[in-house]
Amino acid sequence: MAEIIDGKKVAEDVLATVKNASEALTAKGVTPGLAVIIVGEDPASQVYVASKSKKANECGFKSVQHTLPAETSQADLVKLIDELNADSTIHGILVQLPLPDHIDSGAIIQAIAPEKDVDGFTFANVGKLGTGEVNTAFVPCTPAGSMLLIERVRGSDLSGLNAVVVGRSNIVGKPMANLLLAANCTVTVAHSRTKDLPALCRSADIVVAAVGRPEMVKGDWIKEGATVIDVGINRIPAPEKGEGKSRLVGDVDFEGASKNAGAITPVPGGVGPMTIAMLMANTLVSASRVAGVEAPK
Ligand code: NDP
Repeated sequence: MAEIIDGKKVAEDVLATVKNASEALTAKGVTPGLAVIIVGEDPASQVYVASKSKKANECGFKSVQHTLPAETSQADLVKLIDELNADSTIHGILVQLPLPDHIDSGAIIQAIAPEKDVDGFTFANVGKLGTGEVNTAFVPCTPAGSMLLIERVRGSDLSGLNAVVVGRSNIVGKPMANLLLAANCTVTVAHSRTKDLPALCRSADIVVAAVGRPEMVKGDWIKEGATVIDVGINRIPAPEKGEGKSRLVGDVDFEGASKNAGAITPVPGGVGPMTIAMLMANTLVSASRVAGVEAPK
């Protein structure tokens, strides 16, 4: 049976390191500052934003939350971002997506100063990652966290391993593929037009599933001993728990895949907790750069 990769534990380790380093930075006169902006009242977004602000506080950061009404204009949002770009007490700026339809999300993301873009979505950071400048880029948090989990089970030398990333989104699939490529894996990126996905996955030493389809990746798609990283978070009905109840599953059939995989992330408790931990780690890196000190690895 596969080793279950405990993302919650790894995330706690990351957060403990961030908290220590944050205290050391504060003693030097630089307290890491994270600003989170939310526009509108989407309940899921509010939960995410509240948990990010809470974690930032727990890490000893200055944590600022800007909650703006749904009718906020694009110009006003850009004005706020400009102010935060110029604020020397803020080292990370995060705009919670999705934004209301009348706002051009792309334009808003590009308004963030690249050196404060702790989500890693600006062209400057995407370009750095794409050209292999992994150490100076801000890498998007979910793939960065997934990579850390892979390294925990396979060590830091991934040279020559075959990796298949299922999904090509800008937030997960593409940056994940670039990270694995920078680590000298042979990378294939699969998507909805890919032919014979099962055979492709069977060739992989590392499978990363970021699709958004419950339990799509089946157990017999997984090569013996492969590392399986399940990024998906899908809520499905769970009548066995009672009427109207639901449960979370990933993009991988966990039961089936566990029989073949060497190691696998559960859902929940795998990649999920890593995302927020890496956001804190990126903010610490940003503040460390300002303070002229090296952030802990
Ligand atoms: P997107 O919807 O942006 O991308 C999904 C990708 O999956 C697309 O590239 C799509 O292909 C591909 N795809 C869809 N159907 C198939 C199929 N049948 N076969 C192969 N590929 C397919 O999703 P995200 O990348 O944003 O998110 C993916 C999952 O990860 C979701 O479940 C999301 O909830 C979760 N997630 C989890 C996070 C965490 O913190 N753990 C953070 C972010 C996301 P095409 O491009 O051709 O349409």
